[in-house]
Amino acid sequence: MTNLQIKNKFQKELSGLYPKEEISSFFYLLAEEYLQIRRVDIALDPDKKVSEQDQNKFLSALSRLMEEEPVQYIIGVSYFYDLPFKVNNKVLIPRPETEQLVDWIIKISKTKNEKVKILDIGTGSGCIAVSLAKNLPETEVWALDISENAISIAKENAKINQTDIHFIKTDILTTKNIVERFDVIVSNPPYVRELEKEKMKNNVLKFEPELALFVEDEDPLLFYKKIADFAKDHLIAGGELFFEINQYQAENTLKMLKNKGFQNIELRKDIFGNDRMIRAVYSTSAKGIAD
Ligand code: GLN
Repeated sequence: MTNLQIKNKFQKELSGLYPKEEISSFFYLLAEEYLQIRRVDIALDPDKKVSEQDQNKFLSALSRLMEEEPVQYIIGVSYFYDLPFKVNNKVLIPRPETEQLVDWIIKISKTKNEKVKILDIGTGSGCIAVSLAKNLPETEVWALDISENAISIAKENAKINQTDIHFIKTDILTTKNIVERFDVIVSNPPYVRELEKEKMKNNVLKFEPELALFVEDEDPLLFYKKIADFAKDHLIAGGELFFEINQYQAENTLKMLKNKGFQNIELRKDIFGNDRMIRAVYSTSAKGIAD
């Protein structure tokens, strides 16, 4: 088959599942990956024959796309904050909303001159930790996750992006043995309630790790409460806590942080206009507040 024939086959087979532009972008992404050629090369040489071996790669990718597997898992790479991240179905595909959270932290941290120490809780692919380390070279970055598989991918991503990160494999819900103190703690923990599943797409539901996504309907702030308590013991006075949040839980999350004594709490929306991230400052006067 030629470049063009493969491209047409993609359009034909996937047309009921994805919009036309998305199918084209899948094809070009795969062409870049498998043939090391760009969109313009295909336009210039549509009748170029694709070798049997490469053709098979495209056909196998096509059948995975027909199952609605995310293209990032198929090629094994996703881009976040302009950096490449290895991904597989043990870690979430980094989201653009999370880039905004990272951007917020980078901008604030750059205004301070001291060398800061940051902890990322539930690091997954490591996208938050690595992009912070890369863009704040003076910073010491720590990252933790409950999943051994996630930690090993995050370690590879730290290496691919030439950053040095301290990794800890632990469960934030029960951990007791972290003695470090941090200037900044950031987390994008699981926040999707089971009841929200029906609004979610198959590519997420069938392929992304449930462990990283879901919380029980009855206790949607489970991770946020634990992390806020952890932050009270592990942030320096005046240290900052950053969260990515469930858009439907913004009020509750703000209230919870306020009740626990955090100050200067700020809520921001994401590019889609949804309440998505929070910054809160820990002051020592919050220490005695239990709830
Ligand atoms: N934003 C993710 C989604 O769209 C959820 C991430 C999370 O649970 N932390 O599915």
